[in-house]
Amino acid sequence: MKTIGYAAQAAGSPLAPFSFERRALRPEDVAIEILYCGVCHSDLHQVRNDWGWARFPLVPGHEIVGRVVAVGADVVGFRPGDPVAVGCMVDSCQDCDQCHAGEEQFCRNGMTQTYADRDRITGELTQGGYSRHIVVRQEFVLAVPEGLDLSRAAPLLCAGITTYSPLRQWGVGPGSRVGVIGLGGLGHMAVKLAAALGAHVTVISRTRAKEQDALALGADALLASGDAAAMKAAASAFDLIIDTVPVRHDVTPYMPLLDVDGTLVIVGQVGPLEPPVTVPFIMGRRRVAGSLIGGIAETQELLDFCGRKNILPDCEMIRMDEIGAAFERMERADVRYRFVIDMASLPLPADVGF
Ligand SMILES: [Zn+2]
Ligand SMILES: [Zn+2]
Repeated sequence: MKTIGYAAQAAGSPLAPFSFERRALRPEDVAIEILYCGVCHSDLHQVRNDWGWARFPLVPGHEIVGRVVAVGADVVGFRPGDPVAVGCMVDSCQDCDQCHAGEEQFCRNGMTQTYADRDRITGELTQGGYSRHIVVRQEFVLAVPEGLDLSRAAPLLCAGITTYSPLRQWGVGPGSRVGVIGLGGLGHMAVKLAAALGAHVTVISRTRAKEQDALALGADALLASGDAAAMKAAASAFDLIIDTVPVRHDVTPYMPLLDVDGTLVIVGQVGPLEPPVTVPFIMGRRRVAGSLIGGIAETQELLDFCGRKNILPDCEMIRMDEIGAAFERMERADVRYRFVIDMASLPLPADVGF
C-alpha cells in the first residue's frame, strides 16, 4: 500500500517528499488516513540523530489524528470513518508484567516506537505521522471522543500524555499544589491538565514576562525563579513540580520549593543535568523522578477526560511544506504552543491510498 510523507534521508538533511509503502493489513491492523500531525521537539532531535538511535530514511511524527479507512479481519471496535489517534508507540510484546499493567511504554522487551524503530514481525522501519496513511495494530489505536476538535487534538498524543501521566501517578487533584517549569508545548499542557484536575497551578519562569500567558492558560500564579525573595517565600509550597525544560539545566534551585516528600518530575530533558546539590533532597525527603509518556489505557483516559472537559492544546496550523521553518521557530521556542501539520496540504498522487 503506497503512501507519501516527508522524510529525512540522512541525519540532519531537510525533510522532503517521500513515497513509501505501508504494510498490507494484518488481521488485527487498522489503516488510518492521517488528517493532522503535531510537531514534537523529539521529531527535530530524531531528524538530526541527536540521541544516536535514529534510522533513515526517517518520517517523523507521533502525534497523529485521523480517520479509519480499512480494518483487518480480527479488528473489533474500529470501523471505517471512526476518528482515531496514534501516539508514540505502535507495538509492544503484550506479554510482560509492564504490558499487562497497561504500561506498554516500559515493556520489558522494548516498545516499538511510532517511527525510527523496527516492526516486531518483519523488522522493517516504522515511519511516523508526517504522512498521509499509517497502519497500526488495534491495541495501539486510540478512539477520539465525539466532539473533540480533531484539528487541535493531535498534541494530546505526546505533549498531553507526557504531562498527564505524572499528574495522575502522583495523585494530583483538588488541593494539590503543582508547579510547572517551562511554558512550551509540554508546559502549557501541564498547566491546562493540572488546572482541570483541580490543582492550584503555578508556572515557574525566569521572569514575570509570561505571567499573562500563564494565567490565560489556567494557572493561578507565576513564580519568577530569578527573584530570590519570591523563591524564598515559596519554600515548601509545592507537592509536585513538572519540569519541562528540554535542555541541560540545574534542578537544585527548585528543590526547596517542594514540601516534604515532594517530587520534581523531569519530562523534558533526555540527557545530562547539571550536578545537583543534595542538601534540599536530604532536608525534606524530596525526590527527582522521570516519566515517559503513558500507557495506552491512560492515553485513552486522557482523551476521554479532554473530551469531557473540552481541553485542547493551543495550536498553530502549518502546511507540510512549512515544516523546515516550523523546526527553526520551535528551536527558538517561538510557537504558541504547538505546531500541527494539516495533512491535506500534502498532495495525494492518484495511485496512493487504500
Ligand atoms: Zn513527542
Ligand atoms: Zn511487554
